[in-house]
Amino acid sequence: MPVPDAATVVVIGGGIIGCSTAYHLARDHAADVVLIDKGRFTGGSTWHAAGLVGQLRSSASITQLLRKSVDLYRRLEAETGLATGWRQTGCLRLACNPERWIEFRRQATTARSFGLEMHLLSPAEAKALWPVLHTDDLVGASLMPTDGQASPTDVTQSLAKGARQHGAKLIEGVSCIGFDIADGRVRGVHTSQGSILCEKIVLCAGIWSRQVGALAGVSVPIQPVRHQYVITDRIPGVWPGSATIRDPDRRTYFKEEVGGLVFGGYEPDPIPWPAGDVPEDFEFQLFEDDWDHFEPHMTAALARIPVLADAGIKQMINGPESFTPDGNFILGEAPEVRNFFVGTGFNAFGIAAAGGAGSALAEWVMRGEQPLDLWPVDIRRFARLHADRGWARERTLEAYARHYSIAFPNEEYERSRRTIVSPLYERLQARGAVFGAKLGWERANWYAAPDEETRDHPSFGRGNWFAAVGREHQATRERVAIFDQSSFAKFELRGRDAAAALSFIAANDVDRPAGRLTYTQMLNSRGGIECDLTVARLAEDAFAIVTGTGFRTHDFAWIRQSIPAGLAATLSDVTEEYGTLALMGPRSRAVLATVTKTDVGAAAFPFAACRDLRIAGAAVRAYRITYVGELGFELYVAMADLGRVFDALMDAGEPHGIVPAGYRAIESLRLEKGYRAWGTDITPNDNPYEAGLGWAVKLRSGRPFLGREALAEVVARPLAKRLVTFTVADPAIVLAGRETIFRDGAPVGYLTSAGFGYTVGVNIGLGYVRNGDGVDDAFLRAGRYELEVATERVPASLHTAPLYDPTDARIKA
Ligand SMILES: Cc1cc2nc3c(=O)[nH]c(=O)nc-3n(C[C@H](O)[C@H](O)[C@H](O)COP(=O)(O)OP(=O)(O)OC[C@H]3O[C@@H](n4cnc5c(N)ncnc54)[C@H](O)[C@@H]3O)c2cc1C
Repeated sequence: MPVPDAATVVVIGGGIIGCSTAYHLARDHAADVVLIDKGRFTGGSTWHAAGLVGQLRSSASITQLLRKSVDLYRRLEAETGLATGWRQTGCLRLACNPERWIEFRRQATTARSFGLEMHLLSPAEAKALWPVLHTDDLVGASLMPTDGQASPTDVTQSLAKGARQHGAKLIEGVSCIGFDIADGRVRGVHTSQGSILCEKIVLCAGIWSRQVGALAGVSVPIQPVRHQYVITDRIPGVWPGSATIRDPDRRTYFKEEVGGLVFGGYEPDPIPWPAGDVPEDFEFQLFEDDWDHFEPHMTAALARIPVLADAGIKQMINGPESFTPDGNFILGEAPEVRNFFVGTGFNAFGIAAAGGAGSALAEWVMRGEQPLDLWPVDIRRFARLHADRGWARERTLEAYARHYSIAFPNEEYERSRRTIVSPLYERLQARGAVFGAKLGWERANWYAAPDEETRDHPSFGRGNWFAAVGREHQATRERVAIFDQSSFAKFELRGRDAAAALSFIAANDVDRPAGRLTYTQMLNSRGGIECDLTVARLAEDAFAIVTGTGFRTHDFAWIRQSIPAGLAATLSDVTEEYGTLALMGPRSRAVLATVTKTDVGAAAFPFAACRDLRIAGAAVRAYRITYVGELGFELYVAMADLGRVFDALMDAGEPHGIVPAGYRAIESLRLEKGYRAWGTDITPNDNPYEAGLGWAVKLRSGRPFLGREALAEVVARPLAKRLVTFTVADPAIVLAGRETIFRDGAPVGYLTSAGFGYTVGVNIGLGYVRNGDGVDDAFLRAGRYELEVATERVPASLHTAPLYDPTDARIKA
């Protein structure tokens, strides 16, 4: 088939992801779509995949995508006439130690929260399902009955046929060799057989995605890694249709195939490949068998299924797959180029993910915004620093090695650390800081006392930082604490039309006098929350915008793309120019008054104001605002002056009992105050009214803003869900998030975030209560609530007001 001159969308790559995306673009959106592949379809990673299809992930949206894959694979043959090899076998997971068993019990509850069934089994029940298993070392097992397996090549060919049936053009043997980009937008694709004018590009080039993306200046932080498994001859006792098995404590997985076994695993010392670019002509190729590297898997598999010792090995498959620095795939519009979309980095679950990921990506491409909350896989969760190959390789190898590790809450990566450090790093370290990392920044999570170890020991119980965080929490509530939040993302919007532009993008009224702060959301066309941030009016034509560290790329891209055409407003990122010190607590004003001549009293410097001060000879922009629920000030200081200002505040604070405090204390403090966190409590799936943030929406003002039409409809109907706070009094319970909420015995939602509130002395969780007929105060009050925590139901109390200082009296003092 000749390459057409023009198309609306060009998909690059005919693996399972590209074919699924093309299929959904054609079927659901009747898009004029062309897919090109440099070789033959499936010739990259897809053809040699093992084909296990699991569904449960720690995010509800991603789980929803994987469920969609299963639905699609089940019914695709009826549509295209080509089988997918889908078999619903179930998946058996094996737990060999008590902590793994807790993880399974928590997973079973997460599954219920997300609408999936997961059963917990005894070792004997696991043995009954798989009689050749050695089960003496098991504590228990879990069974997800709706998981299964599919044939990767067959699914892809079926999707390709379906795409063609719906009008897509799929062409093999055509390479993308470059792009036509003008004014930061896609104009076309250059191929080995001529150019195609197009409006949108979808890059699904698997292990080649980094280098193809680079042709457009788009950073795709993936690292190909060698991944291997073996296929055995028939084994007596291995029955067709048996559940797939995951044995995470032995780092291995199994599936039945024609009466034999396919088994492989995730090594602690994975082998990246190649050091540079992936060769162009690598197609339907495997690496040499690497039995030495596979040995630990072989030993583990023999111990689990002893009859394997007598089985013949048919083949070893050793092929490359693209992995990412956090183990999640990469989806969405690249921040560097408008209309350039990416779907890659599938971390050995691309077969499981393709159906749902292709559907979501197609919708994203056509609507220009994500169809549901896809933050865990959003390409905008990365930043420019991730373009560094070395950074991405080291972090990715660690993520790969941890694939089957127990996923404790609050765990930090160890590799690719200390990429960006605040000028206070050594000072904080000397005070016992234990650091974590966020978007490359090293940040103090908590401070160990001299007799405490300065490292994390995560667990499903209280971490070893529990007491230390309690001390920081108490200091903030009772005295004063200082938080180094220099990693905050900071932008400036300047220009003649800056106010008009920002007024259109923000849901709250930001067009206030200079010196005023506004807390606001930014909404998509469905009224879902895309950003949650603070805006300071600096001048008639200038605004400073501050958002969370991790949301830097995402929020910048959202704001820039939402500036209405023709308005004179320029957005710039000034994150590294200013450090941020948050001085929080009832004595914060007294400390600040000691170090500056400016009047910082309540009348001169009221809540939600912004003032310019001088501290220790340095210019400081101070915001009177808080995320911890106390009187407090955020101080923005040129990075070069940060150390001086910090020292002055610590000296002035000494008589007041000042302490440095970290991010884990912030989490506890904000939960008591019911402050929402974007990405968990508030996401593009949730509108401000559901989130309890309707007070920050200028709907009644009559002024136009993004999402307004959708919100006008929202307020005309009863709310289908509402974010509320739960508490659990039993101190032995540890809430971690995703616990199921029961109302009068029926599941109505799950916790979006959770932790311990040291002042109120109870476990706290935030979560949406859902009801098809509407959720009002009467409905909320009438219920009797329980939370399911690791499969056990515990009584819970519901609160619609903040647990701490519900009238904001302390903040506004
Ligand atoms: C050993 C192994 C076992 C696995 N087991 C499983 C499993 O059990 N379950 C599971 O869900 N996943 C598994 N996976 C992962 C799965 O194979 C991948 O996630 C999936 O195949 C990725 O599909 P893709 O479409 O992104 O990439 P690919 O299949 O690699 O497709 C990319 C395509 O892009 C084309 N291309 C590249 N550059 C260009 C260019 N410049 N111009 C045009 N075309 C280009 C290539 O030719 C290729 O066909 C496994 C992977 C491996 C290696």
